Amino acid sequence: MKQPINIFWFRRDLRLDDNRGFYEALKSDHPVLPIFIFDSEILESLPKDDARVTFIYNTLQTMRKTLQDEHSSSIAIYHGTPESVFKKLVESYEINTVFTNRDYEPYAIKRDKDIETFLEENNTAFNTYKDQVIFEENEVVKNDGDPYRVYTPFMKTWKAAFKTIDLEIYYTNSYLDNLVENTRLPNLELSDLGFEKSTQEITDYDVTPTLIQEYEAKRNFPAKDATSRLGPHLRFGTVSIRKMVKKAIAEKNEIFWQELIWREFFMQILWHFPHTLTKSFKPKYDTIKWRNNETEFKAWCQGKTGYPLVDAGMRELNETGFMHNRVRMLVGSFLCKHLLIDWRWGEAYFAEKLHDYEMASNIGNWQWVAGSGVDAAPYFRIFNPTTQIEKFDKDLKYISKWVPEFQELTYTSQIVDHKEARERCLKVYKEAVS
Ligand code: FAD
Repeated sequence: MKQPINIFWFRRDLRLDDNRGFYEALKSDHPVLPIFIFDSEILESLPKDDARVTFIYNTLQTMRKTLQDEHSSSIAIYHGTPESVFKKLVESYEINTVFTNRDYEPYAIKRDKDIETFLEENNTAFNTYKDQVIFEENEVVKNDGDPYRVYTPFMKTWKAAFKTIDLEIYYTNSYLDNLVENTRLPNLELSDLGFEKSTQEITDYDVTPTLIQEYEAKRNFPAKDATSRLGPHLRFGTVSIRKMVKKAIAEKNEIFWQELIWREFFMQILWHFPHTLTKSFKPKYDTIKWRNNETEFKAWCQGKTGYPLVDAGMRELNETGFMHNRVRMLVGSFLCKHLLIDWRWGEAYFAEKLHDYEMASNIGNWQWVAGSGVDAAPYFRIFNPTTQIEKFDKDLKYISKWVPEFQELTYTSQIVDHKEARERCLKVYKEAVS
């Protein structure tokens, strides 16, 4: 007879410590088989040298090594659709319960529902836990149960709710001996996935006390490189949000803490309003007559608009997979307002390029810059790409780094005139939304 086991399914929580679902699995009655599935449907849509796939792959190999060397175990790595992998697993093992952490994106919600149904049909329980956020789903809503659509009251209620909880850290170390003993669980090479090692690397995060203390003063200046670079680590779970919030509070920096709350704000917006994945939160904005000029879109993607701060941002993105938040706001506004290109085009380009791509934050922020989303500034506030330089890159350090030719005759001429583009935008937006 097969020995009963439990499974822990790693997804966006690639760490061994302070991992809620992993902790619950390890404390259960049966030995735990940790697994990871490279979802073939998701991989199909990605470039073959995607830095995020390399990052996930390398992180898993490091985790496997720790479990092999220190706990005579490992992580089983599969490639396929989750359904096909679970079909094989239920044939090979007697599985009592599958443990995992909740994922709130529309695709993930449907995937998990399907897996839960399949497991139930095979007499296996599916236990899910909150790990990715401090507050999920309906936990921070108005008194009448309605979701917040504006950030500041959401943030205040979030903070009030936070005072009432004891933020537990889930120390797994004392339970790691409850893993199945097998150091030779299935593994894969990147090439087995049809991928190659990316030349771009996801940078390590460095959230020092000094960074948090100086965050408010420096965060708006792209040349200072004074933000945390936490994005990919929160996305793939190599950092625990609980530990990060504790750190922010220890340094008494409300602004850094509030950025982490923005992340949860947009996550609950996408969860409550999944239609915003493809549609404007404010329906009238879907009647805007976008110009969608493909040549201009290409120039924007390549950082060749003739507006140096916009071009610097796009070149930084293309070369490194990162762009400073201040510049993300400007390039986004420039695309939607100066060029009148649909926010969905920009959203898709960022989704392909950003190492810290996070569906809820990307959609939420793109709709914010387009004016179509929650809590957006009125549409007639249009960023001026020249005065933004005076405010945020006065000594031209950031621009010189990414667009060294910007003061030379060889530099591209401006693809639109600011004043004309501004007036055109106001007219088109007004026709649609007022
Ligand atoms: P820090 O400034 O150090 O902030 C720490 C963390 O707080 C971030 O890693 C992030 O998790 C969170 N955070 C900060 N600002 C925001 C914000 N405005 N919205 C949501 N979370 C925030 N952020 C993403 O994580 N993924 C995206 O795909 C994404 N797309 C964006 C698209 C546009 C058009 C704009 C204007 C912003 C986008 N942002 C996105 C938000 C923000 O620009 C990045 O989180 C930030 O620049 C990442 O750098 P950092 O990790 O050094 O951030």
